[in-house]
Amino acid sequence: MANQEDQFKKVLSHAKEYGYVFQSSEIYDGLSAVYDYAQNGVELKKNLREYWWKAMVQMHDNIVGLDAAIFMHPTTWKASGHVDAFNDPLIDNKDSKKRYRADVLIEDFAEKFEDKVQKEVKKAAKRFGDAFDEAQFLSTNPRVLDYRAKKEEILTRMGKSLEAEDLADVKAQIEELGIACPLSGSKNWTDVKQFNLMFGTKLGASAEHATDLYLRPETAQGIFVNFLNVQKTGRMKIPFGIAQTGKAFRNEIVARQFIFRQREFEQMEMQFFVRPGTQKEWYETWKESRLKWHLSLGLGMENYRFHDHDKLAHYADAAADIEFKFPFGFKELEGIHSRTDFDLKAHEEYSGKKLQYFDNEINKSYVPYVVETSVGLDRLFLAVFSNALQEEELEDGNTRTVLKLPAVVAPNKAAILPLVKKDGLPEIAKEIFDQLKFDFNVTYDEKDAIGRRYRRQDANGTPFCIAVDYETKEDNSVTIRHRDTMEQKRVKISELKSIIDAEVNMGVWLSKAK
Ligand code: ATP
Repeated sequence: MANQEDQFKKVLSHAKEYGYVFQSSEIYDGLSAVYDYAQNGVELKKNLREYWWKAMVQMHDNIVGLDAAIFMHPTTWKASGHVDAFNDPLIDNKDSKKRYRADVLIEDFAEKFEDKVQKEVKKAAKRFGDAFDEAQFLSTNPRVLDYRAKKEEILTRMGKSLEAEDLADVKAQIEELGIACPLSGSKNWTDVKQFNLMFGTKLGASAEHATDLYLRPETAQGIFVNFLNVQKTGRMKIPFGIAQTGKAFRNEIVARQFIFRQREFEQMEMQFFVRPGTQKEWYETWKESRLKWHLSLGLGMENYRFHDHDKLAHYADAAADIEFKFPFGFKELEGIHSRTDFDLKAHEEYSGKKLQYFDNEINKSYVPYVVETSVGLDRLFLAVFSNALQEEELEDGNTRTVLKLPAVVAPNKAAILPLVKKDGLPEIAKEIFDQLKFDFNVTYDEKDAIGRRYRRQDANGTPFCIAVDYETKEDNSVTIRHRDTMEQKRVKISELKSIIDAEVNMGVWLSKAK
């Protein structure tokens, strides 16, 4: 655990020190759970967005893009269920004045029984040595069974009371379990209240005539209300998809874990409209396809897993998360939801307009079913960034900090470094910069000794360094150094473009996702 925390701290400080992510309004002591993407972060984020967009829109002839406004007619959020049901149960501690999600307090408490199970497993493994059969131990040991039963009992009761909106029972459960405020140890709790996560705002200049609006809590609804416009003007035939990336806003009660849970974040969503009855198939197809896309970034299969939902949202008939192993454990990175015809039907009802498709293959009109893929761009950023940050022992006993970002999304593809700041070397280096800049983001650096500059670029995540030296003047050759292997090769300036392109070309990377 301590190790995980240390690693996470390193991620935070590296993100700041190397110009990836800053706390918002830092000079005013920051704004909680709001972040700014700095000079390198904005490039990484843009590249990840593009990597998604190409995989979705460019590579599918039946998926098109959309950029809907953040503001939407307020009835949208009544129809979608967000006004009535987009709530988290919150509870305040009267002594520490800290606010918590009541369900998270209970879940964390229940998880302690699981920790106890793991301790028993460890103890038994030590005692029995090679003869230890973990599966058998887990299914027969009375203490383990007791702990697991307790955990189940707690979660089942909580699930039932939340479903029945019985908030008094949620509080009663917190009191009966003796759950204390993690910060102060106090058990002096307020009642549990529902808290709507949407941010409200107003449209219009005068207070009397202003309309209440919401900042969108998800981008999906912009797609649903435009479904027919896109279908008709694009002459789309079912099955087809609409993809969109954009900001979403949620007034998260407990927003911790850096950019993992923010109040303003970016989603990349695709709604795939299908014939009713075929949704199960498409749901499976998209689950598989989305996992392959993640894997194409090369972060390693062992860092991903599916989590199929047992408890489904009101609109879904199947749902799964792709979870990623973040520095604080496996957590949701992307959701794949089979949303049925819930949203389109609701918009038909509230708007009084038909949102149907005439399927001439079966000669029938219907409201399509929808399979949605929804990934948080900031979470994807955190996954890629935290996975990339490594400390390596070198042969000479030193260590180096290296940010092994997938080259395809790295902010700068190459750094051009004149060996010294004189004798015409900077001029040649700048010429190389001017040649490469049309194809790649490249950077120029002449400060400090070359070894230090290499280290700086390693920590920045730049896949290639190109060193210009005296030999360059003789034969137009340069040294190209590879970030991950640290291998150095002598190549001609004229070859640079194709060498870099072979490693960073998006098409090449994306073809691995097939
Ligand atoms: P969680 O259970 O973690 O709150 P969710 O199930 O509410 O997430 P969805 O509504 O399915 O999330 O949203 C789709 C995606 O948007 C998530 O998989 C996640 O990547 C991203 N996302 C959701 N909330 C946030 C947030 N507060 N900050 C950053 N990304 C978010």
